[in-house]
Amino acid sequence: MSDTDTHDQTGTLRTPIVAVLGHVDHGKTTLLDKIRGSAVSEGEAGAITQHIGATAVPLDTVSQMAGSLVDPDDFDLPGLLFIDTPGHHSFTTLRSRGGALADIAVLVVDVNDGFQPQTLEAIDILKRTGTPFIVAANKIDTTPGWNPQEGEPIQQTYEAQSKQARQRLDENLYEIIGNLSDEGFSADLYWRVQNFTKNIGVVPLSAMTGEGIPDLLAVLMGLSQRYMKAEMEIDVAGPGKGTVLEVKEERGFGATLDVVLYDGTVREDETIVVGGANSPIVTEVRALLQPRPNAEIRTEKRFDRVDQVSAATGIKIAAPDLEDAMAGAPVRVVRDRDVDEVIEEVQAELAGIEVETEEQ
Ligand code: GDP
Repeated sequence: MSDTDTHDQTGTLRTPIVAVLGHVDHGKTTLLDKIRGSAVSEGEAGAITQHIGATAVPLDTVSQMAGSLVDPDDFDLPGLLFIDTPGHHSFTTLRSRGGALADIAVLVVDVNDGFQPQTLEAIDILKRTGTPFIVAANKIDTTPGWNPQEGEPIQQTYEAQSKQARQRLDENLYEIIGNLSDEGFSADLYWRVQNFTKNIGVVPLSAMTGEGIPDLLAVLMGLSQRYMKAEMEIDVAGPGKGTVLEVKEERGFGATLDVVLYDGTVREDETIVVGGANSPIVTEVRALLQPRPNAEIRTEKRFDRVDQVSAATGIKIAAPDLEDAMAGAPVRVVRDRDVDEVIEEVQAELAGIEVETEEQ
């Protein structure tokens, strides 16, 4: 075998998983919608893939949206996977191996409203789980006298503002930086941050006009590539590992699992172990389902069946006996391992999650 043949047969870099947190009404949903919307309007076939519970934005699309800020040649991570359900409830239930399921978080703060109770709660959760995060200082377009620059990077937007508007925004931004410092984080505007492991980057943006979103994507990509590459190395062909987002009844399938798969592969007919309300559930995958693009809500066939999927991705798993499965619980493919060993693994992980919940 030549060198290239032996090289990296199983190891592959997966997509970093991104969660969006913040106080109610600060713009989490609008931000996710805007990212999805602008990715789609880039007009490329397959610009984004709508997964179950998550949206995958491939590197090429990130690069088109971020313009000159992201050169795809500088990256080997495949893009970004955004968890669609914003908010810290989903964040706290979504765990993997005792940590957070998300590799990185975006904390959304309304620039005018500043830190609010749920902002502080989110920060506590991020601290506790040790999740790296950046701050999206949202709604910059509501600054009095603002001259919006649809979809532009923040530098271009700044240049188009009056001195007064810029000053007003800067005052609000420094207040947020001060709030972060009160919470024990050294923070700065992201373009002044040299080391993102030591300092929190603040990205001014508007989820409404899209200005500053190129910067947000560039920072997320850059941070993941620079500091998380080792964690993104997975054995893509190995037995799948995931976390249950939701347990849902689907007509024709009974109880199904919406899962974010963060490691390995899952195939139809494989045996899986899932955390249940009473004890781990051992069952066999009957079908793997992806949402059908542009499916009519009323039509029966809302899903496409796939033979197998690999991390990182969102997928719906149909299997018997899933009624007692729990949101937040681990899912493991057994493959060629001893099933009791996998059951123990799932039990140990569930015990870790319960301790964490009681502490809150
Ligand atoms: P969530 O509760 O954090 O998900 O907040 P939403 O995304 O639902 O946003 C709350 C409100 O703020 C909605 O009316 C949005 O249209 C508005 N909003 C969100 N982002 C922006 C923004 O960047 N600029 C302006 N002007 N309004 C925004």
